[in-house]
Amino acid sequence: MKRFIPALAAAALFAWSAPATAERPAPDPAAEDAALAEDDGNGPYRQAYDKAARILAAAYPDMAPEEVERVTLYILGNTVNTLFHEYGHGLVSELGLPIVAREEDAVDNLANIIMVAKTTDPTLDRMLRAVADDYFANGQFADDSGEVAEGWDEHSPDKARAYDVICILVGADPDSYKEAADNSGMPAERQEACAGEYEAKLEAWDKLLGPYYLKEGERNKKVAVSYGKPAPNAAVMADLVRESGIMQVVTDEILAMVKLPHDIAAVAESCDDANAYWSPDERKLTLCYEIVQSYYDNVTGNIAADDAAPGGEAGDTADGAPEDEDPPPP
Ligand SMILES: [Zn+2]
Repeated sequence: MKRFIPALAAAALFAWSAPATAERPAPDPAAEDAALAEDDGNGPYRQAYDKAARILAAAYPDMAPEEVERVTLYILGNTVNTLFHEYGHGLVSELGLPIVAREEDAVDNLANIIMVAKTTDPTLDRMLRAVADDYFANGQFADDSGEVAEGWDEHSPDKARAYDVICILVGADPDSYKEAADNSGMPAERQEACAGEYEAKLEAWDKLLGPYYLKEGERNKKVAVSYGKPAPNAAVMADLVRESGIMQVVTDEILAMVKLPHDIAAVAESCDDANAYWSPDERKLTLCYEIVQSYYDNVTGNIAADDAAPGGEAGDTADGAPEDEDPPPP
């Protein structure tokens, strides 16, 4: 296993997640599954997972335990990825970071890098693998799905975004993610090139954030995390988001990493739209319960109760609504 972490990143970007002792041994998926089934510690992602799984099992008593596990990991994995993505937009605007090429791709990369580089909480790895495995399961991105990417969309097409995730995973950690990459149909040569791309993206973000890393003992600004009342059709997912504390977990990661110039807010609420966005003028991150519901619908094969997600007016950033229930974050 190779987890490339440049000197700077080791000292800063991922210092808050670095194990106190030597590097973690190469992950063994079977062993990690067994660890989760028993107890793989008490990290924040593990705690969030336990709480979320309990809510799901109570809401859907007919769901088999292994299905509860799969669905929970998928929902939380996608939610965590989406939250880091939106915080990425927040950092770009709050810190005035220069971004060449698409900002959407840049913050996708940041979210994926943070999730793959953090090595101290095996549950997070499990979440990420659940996301990667499901990207290409059930033919979601099959060419015959009828999905048509609009050339003017500020986001890359979902299929490309899914491959970007796979590329970062297999680039960072070929041993753990080769199977997912193989299953996705990514050719071996492309998988090999991903290692270099991962290193380049990690170094780029490390360089961008370097001047803003929170120093030891330094006080940060505050992020006010709050929860709005859900629409009736998103009540269970709203419960899951609130009770699991997953938004606080991700927020704490950001607060431990970067010194924010201002207080900001993070709100989970119903917005009648399967979306999430950063609003620069209000300094506010919004996670719509409906996007979490869309992850549930996606992983369980539900027909979404509200399958009209017209998009458009959400937020004053340029985050359009996903046109479908595919998992890559907005
Ligand atoms: Zn975005």
